[in-house]
Amino acid sequence: MLDFLNPVKGFAVTFRQMFRKVDTVEYPEEKRPTAPRFHGRHQLNRWPDGLEKCIGCELCAWACPADAIYVEGASNTETERYSPGERYGAVYQINYLRCILCGLCVEACPTRALTMTNDYELADDSRESLIWTKEQLVAPLQPGMEAPPHPMRLGEDELDYYRLGPSFAAAQPTDLLSMLARSRGSAEADQAGEGGASA
Ligand code: SF4
Ligand code: SF4
Repeated sequence: MLDFLNPVKGFAVTFRQMFRKVDTVEYPEEKRPTAPRFHGRHQLNRWPDGLEKCIGCELCAWACPADAIYVEGASNTETERYSPGERYGAVYQINYLRCILCGLCVEACPTRALTMTNDYELADDSRESLIWTKEQLVAPLQPGMEAPPHPMRLGEDELDYYRLGPSFAAAQPTDLLSMLARSRGSAEADQAGEGGASA
């Protein structure tokens, strides 16, 4: 084609676009769902009785290429238990100024404590507010869950808890789980009372 027609060809693209239906999303009033496997902000998950899945092992922090995760583990005790294992994540932070949402930390986590949600609204106007703490990252309590610290409700020992606990909980209605938690709690209180009386 002749060279002098090239500018006209460029305008043809512009004109064609002018008559197409506008596809503008009025964000933030209108929010479109993301793809199901979209990598959004993280979440620290719980077991069905409310104990935390994080064992404070720091593998996620070691796997992170952006050095965005900070973890401090601590030991559970008989009187103060946050996770079914020996250790729990006492301090957990993710720095969203550094995080590139790659998901390598999720791959590294041995207990599936760490997963990613579809939440992408992470902008803010201060550095401090973009360092998310454990309190912000931990999953909310669902019906039948009890806020830690509390004893393991889904098994007598750790093997029992990990092997049978989740399937046991899945087979029960949520109100039964809370009843179980309450009855075990009162049994422990009775035992403590008896121990106290005999001492
Ligand atoms: S998603 Fe990637 S960059 Fe973000 S905390 Fe996890 S490993 Fe680090
Ligand atoms: S989130 Fe997973 S990998 Fe990270 S400290 Fe907790 S258990 Fe370990």
